Amino acid sequence: MVVIEAANLTSDTVRAFFTTRNFAGDNDTLAGALEKRYHIPPGRIYLPVQRHSSDVHVLDSDVRPVVADAVVTDRKGVCIGVVVADCVPVLLHDSRKEVIAAVHAGWRGTARAIVRKTIESMQEHFGCSAGDISMAIGPSIRQCSYEVGEDVVVQVQRATGTGNYCSRDGDRYYLDLASANKIQAEGAGLCREMIWQSDECTYCNPERFYSYRFAGGSTGRQGAFIGMW
Ligand SMILES: [Zn+2]
Repeated sequence: MVVIEAANLTSDTVRAFFTTRNFAGDNDTLAGALEKRYHIPPGRIYLPVQRHSSDVHVLDSDVRPVVADAVVTDRKGVCIGVVVADCVPVLLHDSRKEVIAAVHAGWRGTARAIVRKTIESMQEHFGCSAGDISMAIGPSIRQCSYEVGEDVVVQVQRATGTGNYCSRDGDRYYLDLASANKIQAEGAGLCREMIWQSDECTYCNPERFYSYRFAGGSTGRQGAFIGMW
């Protein structure tokens, strides 16, 4: 399987999916593979310049890449996305207002509540209601494999509140950013039944996913994409 469909977001007019590391061939970029497999020309793909920020970019007709870690748009015919290798990829869709979003949530973005800010941006700019928004959370490094410092746990807890997304073993702390982002989305008003969450861990499946931690540094990226046609 080279892509994981975000089935709860997909329809006749919406395509939403997470790629695995086998999506792009050795010599293909993600954009090249999107063109080859889905006939989406590179000019129709929009990726922000990711900086582990909590900046949300509202995409209009100006398609120049800007620094942001989330993109929101009501434009049709453009495939928006983020790239990740352990961080949490999140896709959102409001089927009533026809608005989509793609979010890159690492621990910094999660500590800065980037998913909640993206939902707020959908509400402010496009009049979305939280109850109409579906969400898909793609594969990321999970609690089994994501040891972090206590300071990271404290910062994520500050943005998330209580929940079953962190654990402690002696002086070792483990964090599940995917679940923290799900809790933040529910806190912003999304319905639990409208959220799908992958149970795969990128670190535990290095032959299937790029994992920054498993690779010990530089590695490739998988993508999360959503587009309306
Ligand atoms: Zn794992």
